[in-house]
Amino acid sequence: LAARPMPYLDGLNPAQLEAVMTLDGPVLMLAGAGTGKTRALTARIVHLMAERRARANEILAVTFTNKAAREMKDRVARMMGHAAHAQDTGMPWMGTFHSLSVKILRRHAELVGLKPNFTILDTDDQLRLLKQLIAAENIDDKRWPARMLAGFIDHWKNRAWTPGKVPSSEAGAYNNRGTELYAQYQERLRSLNAVDFGDLLLHCVTIFRAHGDVLAQYQRWFRYILVDEYQDTNVAQYLWLRLLAQGHQNICCVGDDDQSIYGWRGAEVGNILKFEKDFPGARVIRLEQNYRSTPHILAAASGVIAANAARLGKTLWTEAEEGEKVRLIGHWDGEEEARWIGEEIEAISRGTRGWDPVGLNRQAILVRASHQMRAFEDRFLTIGLPYRVIGGPRFYERQEIRDAMAYFRLAVSPDDDLAFERVVNTPKRGLGDKAVQRIQTEARAVGMSLLEGARSLLAGGGLTGKGAGQLRQFVEGVDRWHGAVAQTRPAPAEAVIEPMFPDTPAANDLSHVRLAEVILEESGYVSMWQNDKTPEAEGRLENLKELVKALEQFDSLQGFLEHVSLVMENDSEDAAEKVSIMTLHAAKGLEFPVVFLPGWEDGLFPSQRSIDESGLKGIEEERRLAYVGITRAEVLCTISFASNRRVYGQWQSQLPSRFIDELPVAHVDVLTSPGLMGGGYGAAAPAGFGGGFGGGFGSGIEERATKADVYNSPGWRRLQDRQAARPAPKPRPQTIDIAADGAWTVGDRVFHVKFGYGHITGIEGDKLDIRFEKAGEKKIVSRFVMPADV
Ligand code: ATP
Ligand code: MG
Repeated sequence: LAARPMPYLDGLNPAQLEAVMTLDGPVLMLAGAGTGKTRALTARIVHLMAERRARANEILAVTFTNKAAREMKDRVARMMGHAAHAQDTGMPWMGTFHSLSVKILRRHAELVGLKPNFTILDTDDQLRLLKQLIAAENIDDKRWPARMLAGFIDHWKNRAWTPGKVPSSEAGAYNNRGTELYAQYQERLRSLNAVDFGDLLLHCVTIFRAHGDVLAQYQRWFRYILVDEYQDTNVAQYLWLRLLAQGHQNICCVGDDDQSIYGWRGAEVGNILKFEKDFPGARVIRLEQNYRSTPHILAAASGVIAANAARLGKTLWTEAEEGEKVRLIGHWDGEEEARWIGEEIEAISRGTRGWDPVGLNRQAILVRASHQMRAFEDRFLTIGLPYRVIGGPRFYERQEIRDAMAYFRLAVSPDDDLAFERVVNTPKRGLGDKAVQRIQTEARAVGMSLLEGARSLLAGGGLTGKGAGQLRQFVEGVDRWHGAVAQTRPAPAEAVIEPMFPDTPAANDLSHVRLAEVILEESGYVSMWQNDKTPEAEGRLENLKELVKALEQFDSLQGFLEHVSLVMENDSEDAAEKVSIMTLHAAKGLEFPVVFLPGWEDGLFPSQRSIDESGLKGIEEERRLAYVGITRAEVLCTISFASNRRVYGQWQSQLPSRFIDELPVAHVDVLTSPGLMGGGYGAAAPAGFGGGFGGGFGSGIEERATKADVYNSPGWRRLQDRQAARPAPKPRPQTIDIAADGAWTVGDRVFHVKFGYGHITGIEGDKLDIRFEKAGEKKIVSRFVMPADV
């Protein structure tokens, strides 16, 4: 074998090499977190091209997020030794199921009754549409909310059931009206030339099934198919893949059953198990060496996931240095948790914790529920700690962003009725519900879009008064912007958009970025917020600027709108050093040297829903999420919980997560918390603590009363004395070696991560009888408790 330079294979282990080099036939790579699955998959793409097995665009690679797709593109480009810019021409089809489906669907839209320029609706539009349908049917949407119907429709689409294919077992859905309304909804979407997210796959599958010639064309075309995160594919995605792969049978799927976390969205981990049946002769490759995490982190993750019954089971090992144990810390409440984490992050980034400094870009906070993010955002804004929120279309979900996008959509497609409805009276144009209804009636009468309806109404004198004049201005505005869209030119490479929102609309030859500004200006939308006196207004204007800035990365408004309707994450990919905040779901496939996992409390994580559910399926999925969380960490993983948390404005007292009990003790350090324990965090603790006590904490909530117990305890006072005498903070977080401390006496006050505070009432060998303040009498092995008054 002649030696050829194949640098992209450097360092791969034998199992990875096998996965890269086994080019013919189906391959399943089944392996735990951090074992280099994604890396092997990427090398395989390069190898396919290097071996000239396929031209770039004959390779189809499916990733789970757009971010993952981008990273893979960059890596492939680098491995191939050409600049990342050369992308897309000489690059494989890489993207999410959704983005790849759009590409296919645009070419064959007419086969499902759409025009190629169809609009992609987001959940907000989808709900508005469903509400209209429900109202037209006189259904009480208090009892039968649109959201519920949306849930059913989503569920059916994930299973690739078109309205005619929904099985009769589902007939009872949504008060027996579900399937009928589903059919109406699909009809309505078609008349709007629109699709929702689920349709992207559903329509493709429909086309593939009904048009053998089209399918055959793609089957021939895609010689090699690769799929990352295969464990999270739903039925529709699975069919999509199976149909496409049946041509050449060269499909390589990569997955980890322990990381299947989208069951609630219809993902079927069973797809992994079926693989060998669907693709006979599949080569199954297992990877066992983890290259990401330290042994402690790996052991902690393995300990937690071991509690799941439904698993294939895998071996994982690592050669990494032992490193730090997983750190566990309890806090008084969510705000204190955010404060502590903020301080930790800063300290770690400066290197004052005794470790080498770790930059903000390499630290992440992974939350279970997005409402947890607010506490961190608030705190970080206060202390000026730069952060970015990834995952969940949060940015694009904000009201002002959605309004602005509706204006852009109208400019691109004036027939976009949903966009019209959204902004025709935003800002207020003196058009009440009645006026909007008249426009709708008129539109139906002339059989045209709302914009045309409005035009016709105005022409016929059907609308008078102040509203009429303003509506006319609005219609003229849309016409003008639409005209300008056609004339926009790409922005110069390093467009500096200055001044933001200028008074003078620019001339004809606009960049699309300038046009966006002009639209927001002329429509009165910017002044609406400028004149708004609420505290949020300023932030909203900031967001609008951010939005305009984001446009610079695209070469047209259309391109941008398409991108936004597809992104699952906030894509502001700036190079600045920022801490990442994201949900555990969004963190899949990613890795960070330093990871914080806050909110490990029963009811939050695992979620209340999974606890209430009968059976263990929900809890097991939550546990896999815990596994995903811990295994994102390379060197330092910190888990935390709070005893009190404000959830949607209500204080709740919380018990530590059951997953905390499952952490193997030998791999965990329990840290003392400044608030809950009166702990050893040096100078920072009393300041934050005292401030909190005087300020926010006096808010008269019942549960809060117990906090006084902590403050009044002798231990807390001793601690304060000690800290007063010790000005310099300790270089490392103080940890308590629980196992070493055996000297217990009856009457000692103790703390247990799950049961909270209590007093020892009896001692029997290494077992303690403890009367817990909240949880009652328990017998506990002594190494699981720690002294409350450190
Ligand atoms: P996950 O299940 O979390 O998606 P994964 O199996 O896809 O994980 P990768 O992200 O591909 O794992 O790899 C984890 C880390 O290990 C990456 O930083 C990667 O660069 C590194 N890595 C992978 N293979 C090797 C190897 N053979 N030698 C050294 N480092 C490796
Ligand atoms: Mg991966």
